[in-house]
Amino acid sequence: RSTELVDATLASVEEIVQQLTTCASLTSTRDPTMFENYWREHGDSCTTTILGWQRMSYYANSKQFFFVQTELDQVIRSLHDVIGNAVTEGRHIVIGVGSTQLFQAALYALSPPDRATPTKVVSVAPFYSSYPTITDYLKSSLYQWAGDASVYRPQSDDSYIELVTTPNNPTGEVRQSVVSGGAGFPVHDLAYYWPHHTPITSPADHDLMLFTVSKSTGHAGTRIGWALVKDLKVAQKMAKFIELNTIGVSKDAQIRAAHILRARIGAKQLFHFAAAEMSYRWQRLRSVLTKGTRFSVPEFQPAWCTFFGEIRSPAPAFAWLRCNEEADCERFLRHSGILTRSGGYFGSNTSFVRLSMLDRRASFEILIDRLEKLQSAVDM
Ligand code: PMP
Repeated sequence: RSTELVDATLASVEEIVQQLTTCASLTSTRDPTMFENYWREHGDSCTTTILGWQRMSYYANSKQFFFVQTELDQVIRSLHDVIGNAVTEGRHIVIGVGSTQLFQAALYALSPPDRATPTKVVSVAPFYSSYPTITDYLKSSLYQWAGDASVYRPQSDDSYIELVTTPNNPTGEVRQSVVSGGAGFPVHDLAYYWPHHTPITSPADHDLMLFTVSKSTGHAGTRIGWALVKDLKVAQKMAKFIELNTIGVSKDAQIRAAHILRARIGAKQLFHFAAAEMSYRWQRLRSVLTKGTRFSVPEFQPAWCTFFGEIRSPAPAFAWLRCNEEADCERFLRHSGILTRSGGYFGSNTSFVRLSMLDRRASFEILIDRLEKLQSAVDM
């Protein structure tokens, strides 16, 4: 009874600290805490209990990759079947510590080891800001960041990897690979290809696709991602990377992820909750921004969504906001208590920022209030 009381007190303290942090200044982190409200109400269906003696071994139960839990492999396939956002037939599933680890596993697997120069890694700007830093932090001789894919022209036998993020972080638009020639391989990062962010137009059918629970259910802290890989040799090499890097992936986390994803398949309300929440947020943001000329955000084309069976507008996880008057938008917004990430990190310029749309509802409302005040300040 006393431990229950301590737990309950700690939970309320944590909530108060969260609220105080929200009021003091806004964080525009990438944390998808928007989903918390849903799971507070529906979370019981995926409670995971692991006894002290269970799952102690390094080895999981998949025959193909020693660290993969078969339950997770199966539930991922069912989830994609229900959502219709990716082809899983004829694909090998490699599990990673978030899709961040799988991205690195893909670089390792796709870079030929015998080249005189490193394989070039490119992505159309504005690109996800972690790509350059993750690619180069170990100064590998296997691969090297080479910047904006739209200006990259490979020579006939140049080895390169093109990262195609669709819908894109930070801009939200749907993308396709753009580089041709050379000996290239596209990696499709589909972290946001879920019906609450973009209309599902057809099942994605690429050779190497990356997904994550972070953006599909909001459980970023579980650190589970998955790769759907056509070529067995590439999948095996990615699994080798994970063996060398972390000797596998937490089985506890895989089981929790399997329970969460299974609950998600059964309870379609989460898609409806998340889609309604995202539509509301984008409407709020646009209604504030159209009151003045100080800021602008991209327009998106609605499309038929096979999952919802209706025409829907994209509602990306981030707003790619442009300050139309200030050269350093991040600094300008920081002075008004709005924390964002400058366009410079994304291979763009400092008049743009990336604004997270996935924070808790209370933070989002404060963000909207502060933007509204900035708009009216300029109109006076
Ligand atoms: N790819 C993209 C495009 C992302 O935005 C993110 C998270 N911000 C990731 C990958 C990494 O996700 P994970 O939490 O699975 O490592």
